[in-house]
Amino acid sequence: MGKRDFYEILGIAKNASEDEIKKAYRKLAIKYHPDKNPNDKSAEEKFKEAAEAYEVLSTKEKRQRYDQYGHAGVGGAASGGGGGFGGGGMNMDDIFSQFGDIFGGSFGGFGGGGSRGGRRVNRGSNLRVKVKMNLTEIANGVEKKIKVNKQVACNTCSGSGAKGTAYDTCRMCNGSGVVTKVQQTMLGAMQTQTTCNSCHGEGKLIKDKCNTCHGEGVVRGEETISLNIPAGVAEGMQLNVSGKGNAAVRGGINGDLIVLIEEEEHPELKREGQHLVYNLHVSMPDAILGTSVDIPLVEGKAKIKIDPGTQSGKVLRLKGKGLPDVNSYYKGDLMVEISVYTPSTLSSDEKKMIEQLRDSKNFKPNPAKNQKSFFERMKDYFE
Ligand SMILES: [Zn+2]
Ligand SMILES: [Zn+2]
Repeated sequence: MGKRDFYEILGIAKNASEDEIKKAYRKLAIKYHPDKNPNDKSAEEKFKEAAEAYEVLSTKEKRQRYDQYGHAGVGGAASGGGGGFGGGGMNMDDIFSQFGDIFGGSFGGFGGGGSRGGRRVNRGSNLRVKVKMNLTEIANGVEKKIKVNKQVACNTCSGSGAKGTAYDTCRMCNGSGVVTKVQQTMLGAMQTQTTCNSCHGEGKLIKDKCNTCHGEGVVRGEETISLNIPAGVAEGMQLNVSGKGNAAVRGGINGDLIVLIEEEEHPELKREGQHLVYNLHVSMPDAILGTSVDIPLVEGKAKIKIDPGTQSGKVLRLKGKGLPDVNSYYKGDLMVEISVYTPSTLSSDEKKMIEQLRDSKNFKPNPAKNQKSFFERMKDYFE
């Protein structure tokens, strides 16, 4: 599988300025950011591809080598290398620890001064899971245990990535984790600091790598996590469980677990914010004579009275029988919207009876006594 041209990936000209490269990468990084494209493999590939192109084109020496020798010049021609940089492209952790700043606010400080210097702490990537909730669970809140596949700290080396305790100080940065360059610009000499590429900002290199995790400090594993989901959540809400995401490379800070709520549809009750809506069908004789019927609640049932002479479209409101608000003590209502059922097929006997009623005085519509208009009813719903 051939690699795409780095300029083509970023959509820029061969003579693009540093600023144009940065802008082009930022645009793509935001577009294909995993937060925006959860579980989208092709977006993740594009996100990585753009980062790899940026990694090369934003570094002067690498860009020169790439311009001269193509992918071979920057060690990217062969695929299936040892992971990390070069061979197999970049992994997500690398991208976030190296280019994390690209997502935050201005570029003014990007290499403009020493403010960000110092060693970087590795951070595990966030993990996203979907959790399905039914209406009963939403009404009461629930504790759910979920099993997640993720990066966990390696047991053999306790997450350090090293076999034994021997480290070499990184020679590229003399252990500082940052590389300082002096550049001549129109405004005179300017110092720029970047994270050291050799040690990824750690300042040290492992002498002997752990055999289990090959120096990464993390391995694929499984964890059962117990989630306390509060009452009142809704479709699309995200809960952040701090520190339960992927473990960081070589003993950094764990990522977060981000729980995306998915709501299971209830067969009878429709949700409208904190309110619930139930469509009740009553027969014509029941609407005329009155009756009492059972209404489904989130849990159990309620008996409600249908008054004689109930109009189709009338809304009965059961206070506090809706859903709780996730942020307060407020509870929504259950709205029962009444539809009077009009039969469409009749036996000849039924037809005769209805024909008798047609001309009877009380069966003529009486607008003065009639039900509220559609808009008045909507006001009842959402006042
Ligand atoms: Zn290990
Ligand atoms: Zn270094």
